[in-house]
Amino acid sequence: MFSAIQRRLRLSSVRARLTFWYLLTLGTTLVLFGSFVLLIRARTLYRELDADLEVRAHQLAGDLRTSLLALDVGERLAAEPRAVEAPLTVWESPDTLLFRSPAFPTLDWAGERTLTTAIRDHRSIVGVVGRGGVPLRMASVAIGRPGTEGIVLQVAASTLPARQTLWQLALAMLASISIVLIMASYGSGVTARRALAPVDAIVDRVRRIQASRLGDRLDIQAGSDELDRLVSMLNQMLDRIEVSMRSARRFAADASHELQTPIAAMRGVIEAGLRNGGRGADYPRVAADLLIEIERLSDLVRDLRLLALAEAGHLLEPPVPIDLAALAGECCEIAQAIAEEKQVAVTVDVRDRPVVSGSALHLRRLVLNLAQNAIRYSRPDSSVCVSIRTLDGRAVLGIQDHGCGIGADDLPHIFEPFYRADPARARDTGGTGLGLTIADQIARVHGGSITVTSALDQGSTFTLSLPLVSKSGNTPGNA
Ligand code: ADP
Repeated sequence: MFSAIQRRLRLSSVRARLTFWYLLTLGTTLVLFGSFVLLIRARTLYRELDADLEVRAHQLAGDLRTSLLALDVGERLAAEPRAVEAPLTVWESPDTLLFRSPAFPTLDWAGERTLTTAIRDHRSIVGVVGRGGVPLRMASVAIGRPGTEGIVLQVAASTLPARQTLWQLALAMLASISIVLIMASYGSGVTARRALAPVDAIVDRVRRIQASRLGDRLDIQAGSDELDRLVSMLNQMLDRIEVSMRSARRFAADASHELQTPIAAMRGVIEAGLRNGGRGADYPRVAADLLIEIERLSDLVRDLRLLALAEAGHLLEPPVPIDLAALAGECCEIAQAIAEEKQVAVTVDVRDRPVVSGSALHLRRLVLNLAQNAIRYSRPDSSVCVSIRTLDGRAVLGIQDHGCGIGADDLPHIFEPFYRADPARARDTGGTGLGLTIADQIARVHGGSITVTSALDQGSTFTLSLPLVSKSGNTPGNA
């Protein structure tokens, strides 16, 4: 049953749960306290009862002394009104009953046995249950008789008055506890409702925040540290959502714009070829122009896919240990073709051979992007230096060029998708505008980062830092 209540409470509101646990704790504490008080009171009452009973027994023994010392005890006591009215018995031995007053309660055989045992064991006070279940206390007083055997006088007293007092006390306490619990349930309900009212306000406000109104924030003063912290956390989360939604929208707009450019170019080429009904058109040239635009389009689509994969943190193949120097060497050989066209010299400076863990395909793509950019934006007859070393427990790959450099205003933005420091020139050089964005994402997926230092007309240095391979060979960030 308790578990059923618990299950129900688990489903219901925090308010109900708070009230329930508060009342349960308070109720248990009060009941324990009440039981303790009742126990103490019961002990005191029974002690007083026993003490009174003993005093009474001794008083009766004194008052009836003459009759008790006589030889015909039974007859003498039967003639004494005080002995007849008092609930008493007089025994010569546990087996010989001399007198039993009519006021003495009737006992069942177990009660009678307790009485004789008390005489035998010389116990001054015992508890017995009278016929009808009435609990009684019995006090025994031994009286010595000169020249003959002693006798024992027993006096009975009912415990009902003491029990009644205890019942009254218990009922009074039960009533008080119930009243306290009713008041506490009302009080705790009101307190919990007040304390949690801001939560309802927060829920209501969050529900009303629309995707179309990204600037909306929670302007709620909850009045408690915890809820104020929750409001501030939610606002920070909304800030982040706003930033990523805006950048996603900007990205979609930029991507469609970028896709539009080769499509418009293809349309222009085709329209020019079809002019005058296609007479006099140079079809091989039209096809070559179309091929260039199609290549640009497919580069862009490939980069968009790669970016989506990298942003989601997915590497296509499981991570493997990679010799960064060897990988950089391969990339530089590939980049050499573009470098030769521009008469740019590419040198590789291997100071250490750090081993990193990750996807060789993606890291090759990263290094190629940086190397191609360095060559692309270099001045003819200059040089590009690729260096590999280990620094502070990380693998560091630097690519330094002596090209046009990047202005301080552009520097913070070059990793953004489709950002071009010099749009006209960059598009001419054939980049999709996603190269650095993809490189940065690949570095992050591998637990690394790319930093850049640059000065206009002097050149740039891009530095890739990656964690060295761990003993288990895992790549940080590649779950
Ligand atoms: P793109 O495809 O246009 O090269 P990237 O993302 O690779 O796109 O680079 C973004 C921009 O950063 C480039 O358009 C260029 O202006 C600038 N950039 C990147 N690398 C270099 C470099 N080594 N020297 C000068 N500018 C660079």
